[in-house]
Amino acid sequence: SKTPVGFIGLGNMGSPMARNLLKNGYPVIATDVFPESCKELQDIGAQVVDSPADVADRADRIITMLPSSPNVIEVYTGPNGILKKVKKGTLLIDSSTIDPAVSKEMAKAAEKMGAVFMDAPVSGGVGAASLAKLTFMVGGLEEEYEAAQELLTCMGANVVYCGQVGTGQAAKICNNMLLAIGMIGTAETMNLGIRLGLDPKLLTKILNMSSGRCWSSDKYNPVPGVMEGVPSSNNYQGGFGTTLMAKDLGLAQNTATNTKTPIPLGSLAHQIYRVMCSRGYANKDFSSIFQFLREEEGQ
Ligand code: NAD
Repeated sequence: SKTPVGFIGLGNMGSPMARNLLKNGYPVIATDVFPESCKELQDIGAQVVDSPADVADRADRIITMLPSSPNVIEVYTGPNGILKKVKKGTLLIDSSTIDPAVSKEMAKAAEKMGAVFMDAPVSGGVGAASLAKLTFMVGGLEEEYEAAQELLTCMGANVVYCGQVGTGQAAKICNNMLLAIGMIGTAETMNLGIRLGLDPKLLTKILNMSSGRCWSSDKYNPVPGVMEGVPSSNNYQGGFGTTLMAKDLGLAQNTATNTKTPIPLGSLAHQIYRVMCSRGYANKDFSSIFQFLREEEGQ
């Protein structure tokens, strides 16, 4: 029989991920600061404990799925953190999207305790998490990768080894920066075309057979009514929140500053999503940039 896997952070993504571990026959020992999420997982067979330290006491493989860097620091190195009780040889996998510098710090702290830390952020949203179709980008010691892969394949369709610790985060941050820039570009292009008298469905069709084509035009069009089954056709509900996108662009900004790398469009995208967050778009899908541009123009 399989040995238990610890899971910390049972939010939108963590809950379905932990559920898929249970489905694959792994006993799950879980915790979250929000009791409601714990209860749901407990009802389907997970053992719930009080703190990350308690998880570390009972499991020698642990996955964390938390909002941002400060939560990860707390859960690993806080007073009731994993590292207070971690056993030698424990494999720690953090799937949160955070600053790669923090991943490196956590890896160092874990190593001091004789444990191994890997970063394994994901792309794909809540739907992909439920269907075990996530993509994991993994950074850390190559000799530990196989052990991580065993668990990650229960929750994802693609698992990619990126290099030393922090490189999984690097890949994730780069992807989301390009996604943000592409979405803003698509939204302003569609808006201009509509203003020039083009039918948005026709313009989308032309873009997608031409060199302007990108994921945001082809698979996730921001204009309501152009595509079925995307947030823009559901009042921008569900999908990937503007707050989370702004957070990821903030990470891109930090890493660019630290490495003296120019990211003019990434910085601008960060500020645009920040402004949106303060104007009521925080919880809408990030493709609502289209709606935001229309409002700015007094539509
Ligand atoms: P979420 O806010 O829904 O869930 C995070 C969970 O962590 C919450 O249940 C919260 O109570 C818990 N938590 C926070 N601090 C804690 C602590 N100290 N101890 C125990 N539990 C704690 O967030 P999410 O949507 O599940 O996203 C998690 C991560 O995945 C984020 O870094 C996000 O950027 C990334 N991500 C999200 C999506 C998405 O579509 N939602 C897609 C890809 C990546």
